[in-house]
Amino acid sequence: MSEPLGLFGGTFDPVHFGHLRLAEEAVAHLGLGGVRWIPAGQPPHRGVPQVTSAQRLAMVRLATAGNPGFFVDPSEVEAAAPSYTVHTLERLRRELGPEQSLVLLVGADAFAGLTTWHRWRDLFSLAHIAVSHRPGFPVETASLTHDLATEFTDRRLADAAGLNAAPAGRIITFAMTQLAISATQIRKLLSNRLSARYLLPDSVLDYIQTHSLYRNP
Ligand code: ATP
Repeated sequence: MSEPLGLFGGTFDPVHFGHLRLAEEAVAHLGLGGVRWIPAGQPPHRGVPQVTSAQRLAMVRLATAGNPGFFVDPSEVEAAAPSYTVHTLERLRRELGPEQSLVLLVGADAFAGLTTWHRWRDLFSLAHIAVSHRPGFPVETASLTHDLATEFTDRRLADAAGLNAAPAGRIITFAMTQLAISATQIRKLLSNRLSARYLLPDSVLDYIQTHSLYRNP
């Protein structure tokens, strides 16, 4: 059986080193064969992003270029309909078959909001979920809603080897290098004409400057 495949969705507005370390460390900690990056097209959970989805996609391509374990999936950006993770997972299941172990990568903040996602319970029949620690967002049942805490307790895996025992349905946490970087912080710095250097790759920063992005608060 092939190694589990990581799936990493996000707005990536813009992509930064928090995202890159999450994906890089997920490969190592969880024994993934690679990570498919899936920038959201029209995110249903938040306001209109400051830049176009094509620009966010271009920045993810720049950031992940040169890493042979990273692949960029433009399908949500290219779709006309809103991006719901459950639909993307259903499409990937059809594409990759029922046996492939799929691991949806989320930060602790995103996981805590999982019950607001469209058809959230169906996610578990389609993929495993790996939750990375993130500064300011504890991963513990006390900080989760009752329904999610129950799923967390019932589905939790202690060892990443278990991700290969089934194609979907388990939850695992992993402790990545803690980086208190957010896209919000970067947008704020840039709109105040302050340096965002060393928070994101130079190639992405060059793209932002060339296209005059994030100039307005
Ligand atoms: P924003 O500040 O605009 O909300 P963000 O920095 O949280 O953006 P997203 O694109 O919303 O970035 O995040 C995509 C995924 O990456 C989410 O699952 C999120 O939890 C995770 N993530 C983002 N930044 C970090 C970080 N510094 N550490 C761990 N996980 C992170």
